[in-house]
Amino acid sequence: MKFVDLNKQYQHYKKEIDSQIFEVINSSVFIMGPKVKELEDKLAAYAGVQHGIGVSSGTDALIVSLMALGIGPGDEVITTPFTFIATAEVISFLRAKPVFADIDPDTCNIDPNKIETLITSRTKAIIPVSLYGQCADFIAINAIADKYNIPVIEDACQSFGAVFDNKRSCGLSLIGCTSFFPSKPIGCFGDGGMIFTSDDILAKKMREIMAHGQDRRYHHPVIGINGRLDAIQAGVLLAKFKHFPDEIKKRFEAGMYYTGKLNKIDGVKTPVIADKNTHVFAQYSIEVDKRDALVDGLKEMGIPSAVHYPVPLHLQPAFNYLGYNKGSFPVAEAVASRIMSLPMHPFIEKTEQDEVVGAINDILKKI
Ligand SMILES: *Cc1c(COP(=O)(O)O)cnc(C)c1O
Repeated sequence: MKFVDLNKQYQHYKKEIDSQIFEVINSSVFIMGPKVKELEDKLAAYAGVQHGIGVSSGTDALIVSLMALGIGPGDEVITTPFTFIATAEVISFLRAKPVFADIDPDTCNIDPNKIETLITSRTKAIIPVSLYGQCADFIAINAIADKYNIPVIEDACQSFGAVFDNKRSCGLSLIGCTSFFPSKPIGCFGDGGMIFTSDDILAKKMREIMAHGQDRRYHHPVIGINGRLDAIQAGVLLAKFKHFPDEIKKRFEAGMYYTGKLNKIDGVKTPVIADKNTHVFAQYSIEVDKRDALVDGLKEMGIPSAVHYPVPLHLQPAFNYLGYNKGSFPVAEAVASRIMSLPMHPFIEKTEQDEVVGAINDILKKI
């Protein structure tokens, strides 16, 4: 059994993906170009925003967004301590300061009630993460941000395709950033990402920053990076995007199937889907008391699982300098000790899910 079966997905769409790739090879336009433009237009329309800007990863999407907002030394950015390191890494990378707010115990997303007290005159952005494929509470977050006139960047690296309050992820705030890392809900065959916004001025700045700060060839009004999206990756994504609506339906069905079965087992907390949300199950994550023993037990039976994430960011050595301690964010710390993700992808079979659930049931009786 695979945790994410990318090969099975490839076999399903092989003809379309191969044809996209060979079209790019034959065109010899490998960096940006018409494929990237087509993808940007299609995904921006899907997300319900004016501009999609293809970039080289989700991390670069976040960096370019922060740079376009002019964030740098002395600035503070409020985010969650319970996420992949990239979310906060980009803030420190630009010499700004990550300021963490604890999470909601049910959704594992930033708790909007913990944000306002952290706002200072130096707060220049809020980055909520739509973790595991469910959007954060953007009604509450945008209300606070609007009150203080602070821009909100959605880290939507796990949530492309999710809906909150009838709007799609990446279109819920000023800026949305997603990742096309292979195992994300829509992944390419390497690194890739996209920034979404309806702000024309920001979009223009972002396009310049992601291409060495250039506004026309060899003319560089600002400092930028090499953050461009490759045409081959855009081709792969165009082929996969046709099937994406069907895939998120299948992901949701698989998630609900797990939840139905796992709810019958004592001591397993299944994902809570909050009001106004759908879920794309980038990860199907459960909470149990004896997490490490369950992970080991599953491994012995040949069932892959993963822990997203075992150490909250405020306890990572790289963030020691921020001065947080154990106990600073009790909810994030408790979840980090109990959370684990089960095999999940659009092509998972019910028989495989039954095997996972059966194994969990057996192991929990023994440990
Ligand atoms: C994957 C991920 C990123 C980084 O995306 P890359 O494309 O790997 O750079 C950032 N934030 C979150 C929440 C992610 O899951």
